[in-house]
Amino acid sequence: MELWYTEKHTEYASFSIKVDKQLYSGESDLQRIDVFESKEFGRVLTLDGYLMLTEKDEFIYHEMITHVAMCVHPAAKKILVIGGGDGGTVRELLRYDSVESVDLVEIDEEVVNVSKEYLPQTACQLDNPKVHCFYEDGLKFIRRVNDEYDVIIVDSTDPFGPGEGLFTREFYGNCFKALHDDGIMVNQHESPFYESDAYAMQRAHKRICQSFPISKVYQVHIPTYPSGHWLFGFASKKYHPVRDVDWDRWNSLGIRTKYYNTALHAGSFALPTYVEEMLRDVEA
Ligand code: SAM
Repeated sequence: MELWYTEKHTEYASFSIKVDKQLYSGESDLQRIDVFESKEFGRVLTLDGYLMLTEKDEFIYHEMITHVAMCVHPAAKKILVIGGGDGGTVRELLRYDSVESVDLVEIDEEVVNVSKEYLPQTACQLDNPKVHCFYEDGLKFIRRVNDEYDVIIVDSTDPFGPGEGLFTREFYGNCFKALHDDGIMVNQHESPFYESDAYAMQRAHKRICQSFPISKVYQVHIPTYPSGHWLFGFASKKYHPVRDVDWDRWNSLGIRTKYYNTALHAGSFALPTYVEEMLRDVEA
C-alpha cells in the first residue's frame, strides 16, 4: 500500500509527496499537527493539513526570511520572531554573533514541543539562552511593545485561522511602533500565482504600505509551496533593501549559507512584470 500526503493548492491543482510513515499526529487546542517521513523531502511538518516545511527545502525559506533584513540592518541586536515555532528562523538568526536576544512569540506551544522532538534540524537553537519563548498570540503581544526591536520577522501561517490577525493593518501598525527608528519588518507574504494567494498578498502589501514609508517585496523559489513562487515583504523605517546596504560588511561575517548570497539578495527584489503590476495596483 502506498501512502501519499496531498495538499490542495486550488480547487483544481494539488501537490503530493510519497510518505514512508507518519511520525506524529496530534491535536493542540488550536490546530492539528502532523509530521511525516518521506524519501524525497525528508521530514515534513503540516498544520491543519497545510505544509509548513520539509527538511529538504526549508533552508530556502528560513535563509531568505532572515538574512535579507540582517544584511540590510547594520547592527541588529534585538530581534522579535512572531510564529516560527519550528525554530528555523531562530536558527538562522543565531548565526550572527551580534544578535543579543531573540524573542519568539508562538501562539501554539505544541508546535515548539513537536518540533523539538521530531525536527531537530530546525529546532536546534530553541533552547539557546539568547532565545526567549512567549506562548501567546502575536497580535496581542505586539500591542504592548514600543521602540524595542531592530528587526521583526513575521514567520506566520496563512491569513486564516490563528494566522489571520498577523495580516491586519492593526498588526502592521503595531509592528511599526515596536521597532526602533531604523527598524525593519519582514513577513511571509504569500504567492502571486494562484488567485486566492495573490489576493492575500495584494491585501498584505496595501496594508504594509499604509504603515511603513518603505515597503518592498522580494521573491524566492520554494519547491514545496503552492506554485513554487513565493514572496516576502520587506518593510522599513529608514533603509532601502538594495540601495542602503553595505554588502562587504555582510560578506565579511563569513556566514555560510546554501541559498542566500548578496547578489541574490539584490536580484530577488527584481520582480516579474505581472507581480509588479499587482503590487502597483494596490500602492496608490
Ligand atoms: N514556513 C511556514 C509557512 O508559511 O508555511 C510558517 C511556519 S511556522 C510553523 C508558523 C507558525 O505560526 C505556526 O507554528 C503557528 O502556530 C504560528 N502562528 C499562527 N498564528 C499565530 C499568531 N497569531 N501568533 C503567533 N504565532 C502564530
